[in-house]
Amino acid sequence: MNRPLPLVLCCSGHDPTGGAGLQADLEALAVQRVRGLSLVTALTEQDTRDVYQVYPVPAARLRAMGERLLADCPPQAVKIGLLGHARQAPVLAALIRRAQAPVVLDPVLRAGGGRDLADAALLAALRRLLPLTTVLTPNVQEVRRLVPEASDDDAAAAALLRAGCAHVLVTGGDEPGARVRNVWHHAGGRQVFEWPRLDARFHGAGCTLAAGIAARLALGDAVGDALLHAQQTTQELLARAVAVGRGRLIPGRLPA
Ligand code: PLP
Repeated sequence: MNRPLPLVLCCSGHDPTGGAGLQADLEALAVQRVRGLSLVTALTEQDTRDVYQVYPVPAARLRAMGERLLADCPPQAVKIGLLGHARQAPVLAALIRRAQAPVVLDPVLRAGGGRDLADAALLAALRRLLPLTTVLTPNVQEVRRLVPEASDDDAAAAALLRAGCAHVLVTGGDEPGARVRNVWHHAGGRQVFEWPRLDARFHGAGCTLAAGIAARLALGDAVGDALLHAQQTTQELLARAVAVGRGRLIPGRLPA
């Protein structure tokens, strides 16, 4: 029998374009030679420009699917993306506790096209998942929404660490500037990663990065190594991004 690949449980929304969400996760895992287990949190109506509707999976169904899955297939890491509804958060918390594996939480608050995907209840629900989170991967705008009272982005990241997540990687891909600046905050301090800005707009970059981090953790990387490796890989996949529609490009996660 071949040695099985490590498993990452992906709790994510379905994006029919394949650019973001669950399909992005599974492709990004495959790039790292890691297998995905998948729990769909929501179906969505979207194209490569924007999200138009989110159709959440009822929390009770998510619980049933998750418990059945975890009783059979224990993952080495968990990745959480779009929550369809605040009521899904306690279900996901229970599944995380059961999995006893590192958790990457990518808070999806707004689609790249501008559509708001999180109301106050969903923000509060996400905050309740912070104590169970190993690596949180918000972008700059998401950090500001998660900690609106913070005086600056460093103070916001510090508040997120105090709220219980072990590591925060604040991504700067959507901010202006010639270089993309991602900042890793943890108990021991902070580290800045800088990447050349690529001249295109992408759909699914955040999911690709977060799933890549989860894959590296499942393979046994320390967090710092996982962050570096997943950023390097994401940069490579963005450099060979492809157009599947008329909107933004999606990362080139499949072999050319
Ligand atoms: N749809 C789903 C299901 C997602 O998980 C995400 C982001 O994580 C998006 C859409 C938006 O992706 P982007 O902001 O890269 O366009």
